[in-house]
Amino acid sequence: MNDVSETNYIKFLGTAGARIVVSKQLRASGGMWYSLQGFNVLVDPGPGCLVRCISSKPKMDPMKLDAIILTHRHLDHAADVNVMIEAMTEGGFKKRGILYTPEDALTEDPVVFHYIRSYISQIKIIKEGGRYHLSDTVSFETPIKHHHPSETYGINFFTSHGTISLIVDTRYFPELLKHYKGEVLIINVVRYTVDKDMKGWLYHLSMKDVKEIVTTLKPKVTILNHFGMTMIKAQPRMVAEQLSNETGLKIIAAGDGMKFNLMSVL
Ligand SMILES: [Zn+2]
Ligand SMILES: [Zn+2]
Repeated sequence: MNDVSETNYIKFLGTAGARIVVSKQLRASGGMWYSLQGFNVLVDPGPGCLVRCISSKPKMDPMKLDAIILTHRHLDHAADVNVMIEAMTEGGFKKRGILYTPEDALTEDPVVFHYIRSYISQIKIIKEGGRYHLSDTVSFETPIKHHHPSETYGINFFTSHGTISLIVDTRYFPELLKHYKGEVLIINVVRYTVDKDMKGWLYHLSMKDVKEIVTTLKPKVTILNHFGMTMIKAQPRMVAEQLSNETGLKIIAAGDGMKFNLMSVL
């Protein structure tokens, strides 16, 4: 990697989605570390995030983080948020960093402890249609509330090189197609297929939904992530390759520890 790609990448600290794959640690569940023009932001620190950071080669130093974003309060996205805030602030001794989170992660049955909140410089509540500046050149928006059991937002990151979209946990709904137009698209796809009797209560995307999304939005690269049991059984790499062949689009599956160079696309 050259110098520019060293400050523009996504490091996958885990690719597990939903309860069984996380509980059995069939895949790691540490979330994603985005380096965007040198601004370091951690998204969805699930169980094991700190361990994955420290055991990465080279090590991902939590004290280099500038911000943490929770897309929603579920355990597979937020279990390590407290320990990551402590690590980001040198054990709470150095007040720094910003936490972006939906309000319900802070209110009833909060996932962010009260005593930890004073360690960080700021907590900002994300809302539908919100836009947030991270640095002079990097910002993000949370364009639409997802259809998911807790308050949940996907993200568009804007940099001067281009846009990276992240569709996190949600049931499919047509408005998704209007809001995530990044050159790079990361999609949480928990289910490979959906059984008929699940339709009423399933709040996750399946590969059929992903096909609809990518053939409409046509990103330069799609990265599948956050795999549930049916995806693991179908082998994400094979599933991605098959969809690539069907659509003529570049689609890859994230792997634990994978570092994706954004400058290879932007
Ligand atoms: Zn999830
Ligand atoms: Zn969820």
